Amino acid sequence: MSITYKKRMQRKKEYIDSRIDEANIDKGIIVLLTGNGKGKSSSAMGMICRALGYDMRVALVRFLKGDQQTGEDLFIENHPNIVSAHMESGFTWDTQDKELDKQKATQTWLEAKKFLANEEISVVVLDEITYMINYKYLDESEILLALSNRPKDQHVIITGRAASQALIDVSDTVSEVEDIKHAFRANIRAQKGIDL
Ligand code: ATP
Ligand code: MG
Repeated sequence: MSITYKKRMQRKKEYIDSRIDEANIDKGIIVLLTGNGKGKSSSAMGMICRALGYDMRVALVRFLKGDQQTGEDLFIENHPNIVSAHMESGFTWDTQDKELDKQKATQTWLEAKKFLANEEISVVVLDEITYMINYKYLDESEILLALSNRPKDQHVIITGRAASQALIDVSDTVSEVEDIKHAFRANIRAQKGIDL
């Protein structure tokens, strides 16, 4: 091993250690998962598992729920530390009724708002809410207000494609999942345990 390599690594370690020491703030954060690739909602489920492992209470709010129950729905069903709300299935391209969709979205948002005001809930997941904003089914400013007034230790995870700039701005961690390849395009239908 060359001396310069060792020195370089030592400097890197010093830098990383100093950054770790500087990160001494605890607070509720907003994690936003957006982009066209697969992995947004399932990442949110992964964080739910992490939180449940620490006995934290979780609220799962799903907008745009498909007809089919997902594996995680079955797994977390009746979990004592999870409360949930979901929009009834159906969306404009199925129901062709914008007013009805709007009504359903609003009902679901009212549930979400209660969770965002509840100090006992440590993590709130707003799955696919970006669509509700983009289709103007929900008022974005009302969502931003509820996010900023939430309990200070409460974490929020937001998923959905095409997140607005305003959502990006209020979030602490933002990841964009890029669609490089998806099995569906090779005519492979949604697979249990992977896609649902
Ligand atoms: P997942 O729930 O698997 O993490 P996601 O939340 O990132 O996916 P959504 O846009 O919510 O993605 O779509 C959910 C479903 O659509 C999943 O079954 C997923 O495999 C599938 N899917 C996601 N991205 C694509 C894509 N680019 N092409 C086709 N199907 C996709
Ligand atoms: Mg999703």
